[in-house]
Amino acid sequence: MYICDQHLHTKYSFDGDREKATVNNITEAAIAAGLSEICITDHYDINGIIEKTYPDYDAENARAEIFAAKEKYKNKLTITYGIELGEATHYPTESKEFLKKYPFEYVIGSIHNIKDVPDFYYINFTDMTDALIASLWERYLKEIEELVDFGGFSTLAHLTYPIRYVNKYGRQFDVNRYYDRIERIYRKLITKNIALEVNTSGLRQGMGCTMPYRQLIELYYECGGKMITCGSDAHTPGDVGVGILETYKMLINIGFKTITIFRNRTPEMISITEVLS
Ligand SMILES: [Zn+2]
Ligand SMILES: [Zn+2]
Repeated sequence: MYICDQHLHTKYSFDGDREKATVNNITEAAIAAGLSEICITDHYDINGIIEKTYPDYDAENARAEIFAAKEKYKNKLTITYGIELGEATHYPTESKEFLKKYPFEYVIGSIHNIKDVPDFYYINFTDMTDALIASLWERYLKEIEELVDFGGFSTLAHLTYPIRYVNKYGRQFDVNRYYDRIERIYRKLITKNIALEVNTSGLRQGMGCTMPYRQLIELYYECGGKMITCGSDAHTPGDVGVGILETYKMLINIGFKTITIFRNRTPEMISITEVLS
């Protein structure tokens, strides 16, 4: 049975666990959890780095440590050298240059904050009007679509990310009204051979569901989407691999038989149906 955690952070992420999340500790947690493969995908939120609101990413040391671990653990599991590139469309030229500079095998494309608005993580939605929540969500979808148009990445990260924080403040938001726009995003992903990520962090962080959640994954399936990646988005060894198996079961239940892994940015389908036996 091949289980792969395709979204993992280490101490090289600005919000990774400095003490515990070394590349070796993350890898050993994955081996202990019975995983076959992991993708190390530290943050490169390009807007935060260029605008100096986030510390710089130590690309050289991260690369050296990941390649040393690849060698050290090669008989136990596969390690993919990846990156989570945030807000690429805010700095398109610099993003392309960054991706060219390092031999990433796998690139997660994400939006954590829309232009001129902080990361949704930092927004307090308690007293926000429904209209303002809706307008932030619409801008988020617009930026997601721009990111897909921009392309150059392997998988689209945690679609519905803002909803996690809206719900955290006890507010509800009906995403179902935006199916047509989400469908348009899915069709573009499919055309461009970019996968859809199913991020399991919501399962352990109070949201109680994956990002995107089941109905939206079903919509992707109905659109003809076949390329799924699945990751825990762990920032500490204890969260490595959490929720992957149950998510594979949900995917099989929807109709998927494979997940997509990337080797040197090239997609490969891996069967997941063995998790049922
Ligand atoms: Zn992210
Ligand atoms: Zn992440």
